[in-house]
Amino acid sequence: MIVNTISEMREYVKIERAKGKRIGFVPTMGFLHEGHAALLKQAWRENDIVILSIFVNPTQFGPDEDYKVYPRDLARDQAIANENSVDYIFTPSVEEMYETMNPFVSVVVQDRVDILCGKSRPGHFDGVATIVTKLLNIVQPDRAYFGTKDAQQVVIVKELVSHFKFATEIVAVDLVREADRLAISSRNTYLTEEQRQDATALYKTLNHIRYLLHKDILLQDAIAEGKTYFAELANYGKLEYLEAYTYPDLLPITEGSKQIIIAIAAKFDKIRLIDNIVVDI
Ligand code: AMP
Repeated sequence: MIVNTISEMREYVKIERAKGKRIGFVPTMGFLHEGHAALLKQAWRENDIVILSIFVNPTQFGPDEDYKVYPRDLARDQAIANENSVDYIFTPSVEEMYETMNPFVSVVVQDRVDILCGKSRPGHFDGVATIVTKLLNIVQPDRAYFGTKDAQQVVIVKELVSHFKFATEIVAVDLVREADRLAISSRNTYLTEEQRQDATALYKTLNHIRYLLHKDILLQDAIAEGKTYFAELANYGKLEYLEAYTYPDLLPITEGSKQIIIAIAAKFDKIRLIDNIVVDI
């Protein structure tokens, strides 16, 4: 069932809660794919009711980013939601979610934003934290599902929920890939055939670094070689970052670090793609 307004969504949540149902929530920006489906499937396994939100959140896009042209297709999304037995699709309007774009109270992310996507997208995670706060307040789910494709987002959302005492458990779901290992993204649909081929360089580079680490090459040397490797493989893609941090804390790596995340972002013309792997060291 499609739910367009906040008051209706709250009403349905109240009804389901009164029946004692456990609510799983999957927030998305729509144009659903297998990555989103993995979140929905896990939500289904762990709850009685699944609520999917589709909302292209303007405040997490920079002025030169793709907010206006972000792919939107509700009919298609509805079909995929039905295949995944979603109970409610929450599609609020921008006007209702943001009565003003200049509120005098706001949610600001103060740490872990000067690295990775936060560095190249200033303000992005403030927008993410703001919309997640609003959505969790409206839906009040038992569990909310986020993909580790957006690893920095998971870390920030977990801190948001912990710090502000939301009664929701944040569940991280593994990254889903295409057959050739490209991380699935709604933005992949915009790639030309050549760019699509080129984009496989993202995962190949991460995997190459994993291989170098396995051969006991120093991390900083492996990352440097990874940058050269990407530049050689990709004809169109321009590397934005290739960095490694501790996982899941996203702190600088020290001698005692056991698990690290290697994350990459590159632009294929205007299309920005990200990927990451977690490696034991
Ligand atoms: P989006 O619609 O891109 O904002 O994504 C909504 C949710 O789906 C986020 O929690 C993403 O991390 C997750 N997601 C997107 N792509 C993938 C993927 N390939 N594998 C796993 N989760 C994903």
